[in-house]
Amino acid sequence: MKLPLLALVCATHLATTSASLGSKKHVQVLKRQATTAPPPPKPSTPTNVPTATASGIPPLSKITMGMPSAPTPLVTATFSAGAEPPIKGAPPLPSPFVFMLNEWPAQDRVPETNTPEVQEWMKELEGFNIPNISPTTDGSCAGDIEAAAQAAQRGWWTCGGYTRSTDIVACPDKLTWGVSFDDGPGPYTQTLLDYLKSKNISSTFFLVGSRVIERPTVVIEEYMAGHEISVHTWSHRPLTSLSNEQIVAELGWTRKAIRRMIGVSPTTMRPPFGDIDDRVRAISLAMGMVPLLWTRTPSGGVFDTNDWKVAAGEVTGLQSFQTFENIFNNASALDNGFIVLQHDVHEITVDMAVGYTLDAALNHNPKFTLKAIGQCTNTPATDMYLETTTNTTFPYPNNTKVDVDGDGKAETAIGATTSDAALIQSSIFTVLFGALMAAFGSMI
Ligand SMILES: [Zn+2]
Repeated sequence: MKLPLLALVCATHLATTSASLGSKKHVQVLKRQATTAPPPPKPSTPTNVPTATASGIPPLSKITMGMPSAPTPLVTATFSAGAEPPIKGAPPLPSPFVFMLNEWPAQDRVPETNTPEVQEWMKELEGFNIPNISPTTDGSCAGDIEAAAQAAQRGWWTCGGYTRSTDIVACPDKLTWGVSFDDGPGPYTQTLLDYLKSKNISSTFFLVGSRVIERPTVVIEEYMAGHEISVHTWSHRPLTSLSNEQIVAELGWTRKAIRRMIGVSPTTMRPPFGDIDDRVRAISLAMGMVPLLWTRTPSGGVFDTNDWKVAAGEVTGLQSFQTFENIFNNASALDNGFIVLQHDVHEITVDMAVGYTLDAALNHNPKFTLKAIGQCTNTPATDMYLETTTNTTFPYPNNTKVDVDGDGKAETAIGATTSDAALIQSSIFTVLFGALMAAFGSMI
């Protein structure tokens, strides 16, 4: 399946996209899926259609693809090079970013792998046990029958919701809402940032590298406002469909772009569409990035607001809100908290969040506590970045020789007192990974 160049939507739409190909094969697979994985319950009629309290947000019934655009919001805060970030021990903000065409891969394409940077980052995998799992056809269950049949062994999240103990999939405390926004920064992210500030809410932002180089000041504002910054790849492809080198390139270039803007490198990542298996996991962990997904209930309920479907014209804002109401029901049935998937790259998804979903969450009874994912999992803020973490188990293994910018020199000195830290990493990792594999069955 050929994905559009600018794949800006997440989650479960992969199967939908495959189905739209209309081939008999795909239809058959979807039917088979339906027998093994019952669809989530139908959205109920919203009992109380809310009115937006924030100014400039259209009524819910008007939020749909093709609605008129509001003026792009102005940047409300500026930060100078050398400014002190809110993370203890973090370096001051770097010099202002100047885009140079020859310094970055083409936007929204899988970066070339035969480059000095990617080859340098490939060294981070040396000594690690990267499972020899074949890439999937397109990251969807429906697109790859063989891979789908092995989904459990592969630990494939997209196809059956299989997780490993290294994945972060929920907030531990009941009624705690892990706030996350993906795919930005976008032209309306500023509106969201202003709203979050007014409500004193922190979020985790999963950034696409191709967007980071477009809007560096927004990335800086997110970071300086105390939000958490995480990697969401360079071109937003399903990672299970890529080669090891391509996965490294996707993660490496995004990490490098983020570091160029804010001076630190995230220790976490979220795979586009949630498309992760044991190979993608192992590569991410070897590069010092812990996977953060979003919550699924045992019955198949997913904490996906479906805001991306509104932007894609598949549902209306009202229908998306109905899905969202199910999240409330799912949340009440859980013993723990949960992580919710939302997007800030489109005006529509920002309007949904600012006007309706976050407001509804804040006004919910019983009360939800809204926090960024690192906060809700009690992860110290310093652990969220390679340059500031002092934790030897997050990300695990302790990355002491990571060359983020590909210049041949390690970017962080924390714990890097030995000449062969990579070997130490690998031995720690081998033990932990071996235990993991023993717990979850044999590898493919
Ligand atoms: Zn995404």
